[in-house]
Amino acid sequence: MTQAVTRAALIDGKAFAATLVDRVTAASARLASDHGVTPGLAVVIVGEDPASQIYVRNKGETTLRAGMRSDTHRLPDTTTQAELLALVQTLNADDGIHGILVQLPLPAQIDANAVLDAIDPDKDVDGFHVVNAGRLAVGLPGLVPCTPLGSIMLLKNQLGDLSGLNAVIVGRSNIVGKPMAQLLLAQNCTVTIAHSRSRDLPDLCRAADILVAAVGRPEMIKGDWIKPGATVIDVGINRVPSLDPVKAAEGKSRVVGDVAFAEAVEIAGAITPVPGGVGPMTIACLLANTYSAACRAHGVTPQDLG
Ligand code: NAP
Repeated sequence: MTQAVTRAALIDGKAFAATLVDRVTAASARLASDHGVTPGLAVVIVGEDPASQIYVRNKGETTLRAGMRSDTHRLPDTTTQAELLALVQTLNADDGIHGILVQLPLPAQIDANAVLDAIDPDKDVDGFHVVNAGRLAVGLPGLVPCTPLGSIMLLKNQLGDLSGLNAVIVGRSNIVGKPMAQLLLAQNCTVTIAHSRSRDLPDLCRAADILVAAVGRPEMIKGDWIKPGATVIDVGINRVPSLDPVKAAEGKSRVVGDVAFAEAVEIAGAITPVPGGVGPMTIACLLANTYSAACRAHGVTPQDLG
């Protein structure tokens, strides 16, 4: 008798993100028609980092397509901290701007934490401000970091009720691992956060009904670390040499996640691909956060977009 080969369902973040952007677009149009408010997002970029330039251009274009106001402030890499803080204060005071995003990394002469702390927490659409981290921790409404927010939306869409499930997150950064843990806890999961000092990482992962990989190490999580049928969210974005040796020699690369996808897809119940999983959700959630910040600034209850 041959055994049926099962492969994980692919969680299509690209399609879900497109639907989310459509919902945000419709909700923003309603906010404009009912309350005369057009959500506005200001993105600040300092210097010429090529990857950051691409991210910022994409953010600006997507914001405009969603019918929102999009302002991009491009500053030279000689910008001082005082100059950048002055711009943040101007944007904090601008009633037409509901979201402020300062693109990281910043040049060495600028203290990124000081700049992020200067953003009005109610305009902090990246959700990195300590006030928003605190709100998330105690269950108050606030702005949630975009990547974990997108990940929890994908999980709820895939699994429905997450209550009682064992969730393991590998990675404890302030922008992914820790907020992801808070979001899963709020969904009544039993949450474990693993990191570089954790013992028996493969065994910890094997206990997970939901496994979130946010490590930044290409294909570190192997197929036999995954519980059969588990749902795997791969947050990692790692650039590695092309599989084609000729292309690799030309410096061509490809993007892989933190999970060994080819192995994992044979064991997991559902998995996000890289690219096309969590990545596209991040920008969609940035728009969702800008919309909800605009609503709250005008005393309007945001529509549920999840
Ligand atoms: P990070 O700040 O570098 O944090 C990495 C975490 O992984 C740390 O907590 C670290 O533990 C842990 N870690 C490192 N090596 C480990 C090991 N061998 N075993 C167990 N844990 C280990 O990274 P991040 O900003 O959270 O990003 C994680 C990944 O997500 C990266 O690939 C990044 O590119 C990607 N990312 C994607 C998006 C998106 O839009 N999809 C957004 C943000 C980030 P310690 O704390 O003990 O050092």
